[in-house]
Amino acid sequence: MKTEETTKSYHFIETIVRQDIEDKKYDARIHTRFPPEPNGYLHIGHAKAILLSYGISEDYNGKFNLRFDDTNPITEDTEYVDSIKEDLRWLGADWEDRECYSSDYFQQLYDWAVMLIKKGKAYVCELTAEQISEYRGTPTKPGKESPFRNRSVEENLELFEKMKNGEFSDNTIILRAKIGMDSPNMHMRDPIMYRILHAHHHKAGNKWCIYPTYDYTHGQSDYIEGITHSLCTLEFENHRPLYDWYLDQIVEGDYRPRQIEFARLNLNYTVMSKRKLLQLVKDNLVSGWDDPRMPTISGLRRRGYTPESLKVFAEKVGIAKRENVIDIGLLEFSIREDLNKKSQRVLAVLDPLKVVITNYPEGQTEELDGINNPEDETMGTRKIPFSRELYIEQKDFKEEANRKFWGLKVGKEVRLRYAYFVKCESVVKDKNGNITEVHCTYDPASRGGKSPDGRKVKGTLHWVSAQHAIKADVKLYDRLFTVENPEKVEEGGDFKDNLNTDSLETKTCFVEPFVKDAKILDKFQFERTGYFCIDKDSTKDKIVFNRTVTLKDNWKKK
Ligand code: ATP
Ligand code: MG
Repeated sequence: MKTEETTKSYHFIETIVRQDIEDKKYDARIHTRFPPEPNGYLHIGHAKAILLSYGISEDYNGKFNLRFDDTNPITEDTEYVDSIKEDLRWLGADWEDRECYSSDYFQQLYDWAVMLIKKGKAYVCELTAEQISEYRGTPTKPGKESPFRNRSVEENLELFEKMKNGEFSDNTIILRAKIGMDSPNMHMRDPIMYRILHAHHHKAGNKWCIYPTYDYTHGQSDYIEGITHSLCTLEFENHRPLYDWYLDQIVEGDYRPRQIEFARLNLNYTVMSKRKLLQLVKDNLVSGWDDPRMPTISGLRRRGYTPESLKVFAEKVGIAKRENVIDIGLLEFSIREDLNKKSQRVLAVLDPLKVVITNYPEGQTEELDGINNPEDETMGTRKIPFSRELYIEQKDFKEEANRKFWGLKVGKEVRLRYAYFVKCESVVKDKNGNITEVHCTYDPASRGGKSPDGRKVKGTLHWVSAQHAIKADVKLYDRLFTVENPEKVEEGGDFKDNLNTDSLETKTCFVEPFVKDAKILDKFQFERTGYFCIDKDSTKDKIVFNRTVTLKDNWKKK
């Protein structure tokens, strides 16, 4: 018999990790990290990266670091640090006591830079930004050497020291690695190691006015932390030779971290660059980073997504070496599956139409039993109040309709979920001819919605008792963008031109009283309608629901 172990297939990164363990590379130790730059909130793509790196550390008895890659003081902020930690915790990624910051390594990085200068492998360059890019050449044309390239070690040391001491103004001079201007890899053409920025750093304060680049920081930070497998997205593939080059200059023993790239997650109908998400926030096109329409982890959480659904989604997407675009429907499928198993069912009416049960005694109420979750018996039952005046959905009633219509129409009998068979006798209209009330009679012998004599009804409708229902706000979300690839714009256009102006609809709805004590983020299935959760804007007096997702994928019908 096959065990789970032998039937399981491994993606290419796991295969590498397993081989390294077998070969006792790194003494069979596994240590991964997630290195966000604290310049925005995390999005679903980051969730994929976190679940991958954390998942590997967990599966192979390793360790996992959270490392803030905070080398750019201008865009970084502690608000982002806090949100990132909250999102990781929520996803279940545990970095234990290893909350690391690249900025904690600034002194070490500086010392290594001095070492590189001494070895003749780095120099201070005074070319302007335009000159630097001009000298860099193109992928097909070799670059030109900077006239400052052959300064003496002493001169470089002195200038670098002055850079550190704040004797130059911003962006005047830089420190560069001396590698070669004719490398076919543009990243290797004497890359920048340090630039001058007189800016307050969220953690290091005003201690530094020179800041290391990502490339000069990342591999060394991995090395300092003892990372074994440094997993990142494909855009860093061309940086890998540089990652290795810097390590070659500083590493003495056998150990060195290894960078491995995988395809980033791309989702249609959304944007994922932090810069673009920030624009949506700054321009007030969404209510904030955690707007439930945003692809951010905080937005998805507020929308009602669960960490489990994101894990299932990430597994379905898989780890590949080639980029592709995932349909947002797969994300919605994952949350639907999860909530179907877990969520409490309630009856709620979004577009109310009043129903009067004319043969039900005025002033009488009774309680009927509703099943909390047909997928999970242990969730039990609850009492749902019933009375003479109810609400049903407008779309469940038609004065006249053909035989295909399963809702209520004059002369027809339907079942009210968990309650009774009711038959429509007549309607009341206002002076404009709009139906304001539907009058029905009920069959007392059909209590619980059971047929008393074997007669059948086609439709089962949800309803609420008008006098008992809780009036709540409900927010219905549509896609944030109208096109699959919002980043594809005409010349002179902007991705924001592709925003869906109807992506939020707020309504008043009526929900059975069961939800009255619910807490923020509690999740419900409104029977026949969709999955909803309680929004953080709810108050003592007013519950606000977010629609997480409809019950079925109905985008295609639009
Ligand atoms: P930007 O959106 O400005 O390009 P970023 O998303 O790359 O920034 P980082 O904070 O540098 O922001 O990302 C942290 C880590 O998350 C990186 O290692 C990166 O490889 C990974 N990552 C970023 N975007 C995705 C994505 N869409 N799918 C998977 N991993 C991602
Ligand atoms: Mg990045």
